Amino acid sequence: MELEDINTVAVLGAGNMGHGIAEVVALAGYDVSMRDITEEFVQDGYESIEWSLGKLVENDRLSEAEADAALERVTPLVDVEETVANADVVIEAVPERMDVKKEVYEEVESHAPDHTIFATNTSSLSVTELSEVTDRPERFCGMHFFNPPIRMPLVEVISGEHTTEETLEVIEALAEDIGKTPVRVHRDEPGFIVNRILVPLMNEAAWLVHEGEATVAEVDSTTKFDMGLPMGAFELGDQVGNDVSYHVLEYMHEVLGEAYEPSPLLVEKVENEELGKKTGRGFYDYEDGPGAEIPSDQGSEEIQARLLATMANEIAKLIDGDVASPAAIDEAVTLGGGFPDGPVKMADAYGLGDLLETLERAYDDHGHERYAPAAYLETRAGEGGFYEVGEDETVAFETITVEYPAEYVARLAIDRPHRMNTISTEVLEELSAAIDDLETDDDVRAILLTGEGDRAFSAGADVQSMAAGGGDAIEGIELSRTGQRVFGKLESCDLPVVAAIDGYCLGGGMELATCADIRIASERAQLGQPELNLGLIPGWGGTQRLAHLVGESRAKEIILTAERYDAETMADYGFLSEVVPAEDLDARALELTAQLAGGPPIAQRFVKRAMLAGRDDTDAGLELEATAFGHLMATEDLMTGITAFMSDDDPEFSGR
Ligand code: NAD
Repeated sequence: MELEDINTVAVLGAGNMGHGIAEVVALAGYDVSMRDITEEFVQDGYESIEWSLGKLVENDRLSEAEADAALERVTPLVDVEETVANADVVIEAVPERMDVKKEVYEEVESHAPDHTIFATNTSSLSVTELSEVTDRPERFCGMHFFNPPIRMPLVEVISGEHTTEETLEVIEALAEDIGKTPVRVHRDEPGFIVNRILVPLMNEAAWLVHEGEATVAEVDSTTKFDMGLPMGAFELGDQVGNDVSYHVLEYMHEVLGEAYEPSPLLVEKVENEELGKKTGRGFYDYEDGPGAEIPSDQGSEEIQARLLATMANEIAKLIDGDVASPAAIDEAVTLGGGFPDGPVKMADAYGLGDLLETLERAYDDHGHERYAPAAYLETRAGEGGFYEVGEDETVAFETITVEYPAEYVARLAIDRPHRMNTISTEVLEELSAAIDDLETDDDVRAILLTGEGDRAFSAGADVQSMAAGGGDAIEGIELSRTGQRVFGKLESCDLPVVAAIDGYCLGGGMELATCADIRIASERAQLGQPELNLGLIPGWGGTQRLAHLVGESRAKEIILTAERYDAETMADYGFLSEVVPAEDLDARALELTAQLAGGPPIAQRFVKRAMLAGRDDTDAGLELEATAFGHLMATEDLMTGITAFMSDDDPEFSGR
């Protein structure tokens, strides 16, 4: 079967995940039959889809007509036969119990067409075991969405023992077609990739507290502020549900052995029904207390080493067991766990030798299996890291992409759609390197600057990764200077730069766009400098450069009110040159950039230089203008331009 052969998708279960999966599949244009066991349950799921589509319309992510059409494509059903009779793919999202799921597959097998692929959304159960109750184990795989499916970009596509390559490829193509990023999991070990990294991490956090080696505050301060993870380990546990982590761990414990014994602290939480946010209390008190209030200064080096060592050990087992490659692990955990950087990279950067020693010491002290170093960790520590030297250099950049969509045009995009294209120090470093490269590349004459995905050009600085640097004043000054300098490179670079803005363009993102030469935006773009809301000021050039575009009075209004502005208003203010419907933005931005790329390079360079020089000193600008004018008299480009003008042709400038 090929992707083109998929028209109808059946979703079994209309609960949390089922209704969300049905929604994204319907949004991509497929017919969806969604089943639950009672009329009431399936109707609840249907109404949740309706509500969620409404939210997307409210936030201008979808037109009313698109939402109606998507809802129209969903048929809520209770009858199993009717649900699967025409299905090309069945995605099952019924409760996480082997017996329940097996029963479902036995029933569905008898009604589904032969060609239909079965995909289970199980979080941890054996795909192989489930596939074996059907007559089509080769057309059976895991398709693990993350919660909520509408927002989370990752889908782990899991091979069972009998799954064919063709099945995996079709399901990966389907995942891509519905706007998700599939990551292949080669073997169905418990937890697959993301939970296999996150759940033992949370368990180790709980062991540390149980053994009296750390407090909850110290662990969460370390994870959130020193390691830069999106949440503290306990905060995450409370969010996911301590019972959910416990069940996954229990399963790992049963299948993978003693290393996964749940910490007594976690067991106690589950027994006391302190399951986290959903019960009002877990490791933190959400009902009567302030929730997860995490101090930023209680982290410790020992805790960090222990948690990273735990992750490194899991990584070693995943790679050695041929479950996933280092790159797949990094991609899955950044997308599914919101890590600012991949865990494999984090472990390599810390040093596998040190992490191995940490494990060995802990093993000596505690004698618990969870600290027994994996053989492959020892091997890789000897090699200096999980990644082969040079392996991660083949992908030149991690946080940005550079493409060449038209002659002489480079498209430079911040590529962190899962984090709203926020700007981390790594983004700054990579932007800086990319601008240098492009400026010296003879095949590039104009830059199109944008953000990947449809939600944000860039929502600003990555506060989380910045916070990992601590609250140090000197570091703050350095960070501000770095951003000013890197963005300034665009302003002063010889190539014309067009910024294409869709979705959020806030804070540091707006300061970046300010450094482009021309800005165009989609109708749904939202712009602003919200720094003052955080008690900060724009630190990447905003207090200076914005006023040159919109005038001092408007710049002060934008910065001091810290409000969000729609695209039309920002066009009125002179910040945007054009506002176009979202679906036209890419094409129009490319057209404009290509037009600039066809212009005379030397003359363009001098225009930028003279205008920049004249900003604070008109005489200097005029002087540069005169000199440039003189220089241009001697260029081939001038002859080309004049000849083309006389003959009414399009000039082809050589840049000489
Ligand atoms: P849920 O309890 O919200 O929904 C399950 C639904 O399945 C319920 O509405 C139930 O009535 C229905 N159901 C039960 N038997 C059925 C049957 N025979 N046919 C059709 N429907 C049936 O659970 P959930 O959170 O949506 O989880 C569903 C699956 O997704 C589980 O395997 C879970 O591990 C997995 N998962 C959950 C999450 C998450 O964060 N919740 C994330 C990824 C994967």
